[in-house]
Amino acid sequence: MLFLLLTLLASQGTPRAPREVEARFLRLPDPASCERYLQVLTEDPRLAGTPTDRRSAEYTRSRWLEAGLEADFATYEVYLPYPKSIEVKLLAPEEFKAKNVEEGWGWDKDSYAPDAVLPYNAYSPSGDVTAEVVYANYGLPEDFARLKGMGVDPAGKIAVARYGRSYRGIKARAAREAGAIGLILYSDPADDGYGKGDPYPRGPWRAATSLQRGSILDLAKGPGDPLSPGWPAIKGARRIEPAQADALPKIPTTPISHADAAPLLKNLSGPTVPEGWQGALPFAYHLGPGPARVNLKIEMDFADRPIWNTIGKILGASRPDEWVILGAHRDAWVHGAVDDGSGCAVLLEIGRCLGELLKEGWRPARTILLASWDGEEFGLLGSTEWVEERLEEVGAKAVAYVNADSAVSGRDFAASGSPSLADFAREIAKAVEDPRSRRPIHEVWAERTRVAAKEEETYRRGEEPDRGASGTEPPVGTLGSGSDYTAFLDHAGVACVDFAFTGPYGPYHSTHDSFYWMKNFGDPTFEYHAAMARVMGLAALRLADADLLPIDHAGVARAVPRYLEDIAAKAAQAAERRGEKPPELEAPLRPLREAAAALAKAAGEASTRGSQAAEKGPATVLAEVNAALLRAEREYLDRAGVPGRTWFRSLLQAPGIDAGYAPATLPGIREAAVSGEIDRVSVEAARLVARLDAAAAVLAGKPLAAGKGGRGSSPEAGRR
Ligand SMILES: [Zn+2]
Repeated sequence: MLFLLLTLLASQGTPRAPREVEARFLRLPDPASCERYLQVLTEDPRLAGTPTDRRSAEYTRSRWLEAGLEADFATYEVYLPYPKSIEVKLLAPEEFKAKNVEEGWGWDKDSYAPDAVLPYNAYSPSGDVTAEVVYANYGLPEDFARLKGMGVDPAGKIAVARYGRSYRGIKARAAREAGAIGLILYSDPADDGYGKGDPYPRGPWRAATSLQRGSILDLAKGPGDPLSPGWPAIKGARRIEPAQADALPKIPTTPISHADAAPLLKNLSGPTVPEGWQGALPFAYHLGPGPARVNLKIEMDFADRPIWNTIGKILGASRPDEWVILGAHRDAWVHGAVDDGSGCAVLLEIGRCLGELLKEGWRPARTILLASWDGEEFGLLGSTEWVEERLEEVGAKAVAYVNADSAVSGRDFAASGSPSLADFAREIAKAVEDPRSRRPIHEVWAERTRVAAKEEETYRRGEEPDRGASGTEPPVGTLGSGSDYTAFLDHAGVACVDFAFTGPYGPYHSTHDSFYWMKNFGDPTFEYHAAMARVMGLAALRLADADLLPIDHAGVARAVPRYLEDIAAKAAQAAERRGEKPPELEAPLRPLREAAAALAKAAGEASTRGSQAAEKGPATVLAEVNAALLRAEREYLDRAGVPGRTWFRSLLQAPGIDAGYAPATLPGIREAAVSGEIDRVSVEAARLVARLDAAAAVLAGKPLAAGKGGRGSSPEAGRR
């Protein structure tokens, strides 16, 4: 009865002002509720395609239905490998068999879970290889080149390389290109173990027996189901043969712990390692080859298996065909408390809180979608297939995509995003309080100099952050690939932003990434989970209810010269390594600088026109400006894509093809400049000039000349 009365009152009240709704929303997230969600989510492993993964998809759907959202599954059938057996045996000069078991402790049920998947590198082929071992540092292309330079040929050998400084799929490709017949990846204590601090369970860093599982699908060639590249992996859809799949790795590869790696490395002779190659195991490292001789035997079970995204929806009241999308991946290698149980708990909490607002009579102007992605760990499968299935619709409707992967592992706020959303990300951080200091997150973030950025994070977030118009704002990093924003950003041309609270975190992709770890190290009070729910939820509210969309293309105009500076530096370094003079880039890049300046002007005028219309009308002008802001974002796409990688259609950024360390900004120009091909620099610059000109024309409200839309980047970049 009381409920009915309240409902009646709420529905009769005048709609509340956006600021009132925001203030109400910010009071709703509850640490205890986040903790409950994470506890349920980490009850069982959530390996993509398994019954317990399915159960977590159902749990997510039930919570959103209960909150008053619409919710359903988006199911795909993707090529998923599970391990049958993996053996790493040292045959000489002494015998040793890698245990491949992570130590467990009675008080942390996740740590000794009997149902944890065998440690493996997903998409490694099956194989049985025996050879002498060489040590290849981080296994980067330059490490293998250096190894050869020192007279140690990896050809025909099994390479042992440590994790870090790059996505592991790049290591698998580099090892094969260097001629290695097998690859063993291990976590050196220098990188995330006792070299950093106390290992789990005494501290937050990686224990001696802890293993980093992970996919070695070549994401730089394109994410998603490897047998349906570029189209959705729905049941019955066309598939290519695995032998034709470019992204599938070719040599047997497996992860081991440093406890298991030590006997292999200790038994290497040959030259001692060069500077920077020594890890933190207690002996001097040598390069080999041998006398350590290893048998690596892997048996995989490849099959098409179902995965289940859960999609929650709140239909917009006045602009239902404009989508604000929030996402986190639900699948995990084992229990994944940080990665990405934390993001999923946050998403569930946002659903619950938005549900509260719905009960009070609120409805957003635009549609809000909550996406609990599946199959991210294997290669961004769930999000990529979902975008590929509705590419045109996403192009027409998506306003922005907000991601959280490993949402909470500590207290340090970090944001990355499209240049057009960098200022928006900082505005959100001004409006949400840091739980510990009770000051705005932005203030704490600005103060903190991130001395030792987590390596995982550095290669994901890039090295050329946006520092605002003043150049002194807290950094918003560059996105390339590495999480579920990739298909939105690089394939569909949607502005994206990614948020996290980070901290010391070792047990990435192991059984020790557990609820107990979170409760004792990551976020014991769950206040940072609640704060992340405020951050992402507020981003959703502002994007969904904004009169004028907070997408600012001045950020893109600001980014281009910054990227060019970095490209010039990298090109000069590469030329020096080849013994050449730095390439002359000034003239070929001048038109691009001019185009960026013109874009800045058009963006400034569009935001003035938009703010005036938002204040005084007319509504038609406001609608035109909003439509232009969205369409301009799509104009950075070019259907021909990044050279050699057509799936990546944005000319602004892509994952680095080789380094894989940072996202490559302006990838076409960058690759040409670094390899010293000036003619190609001009060609690539001209392609980008065309896209920036098109974006500027859209922002200036100029109708595209007849036939010009056809020159355009993508079917959905045209007028609609
Ligand atoms: Zn993740």
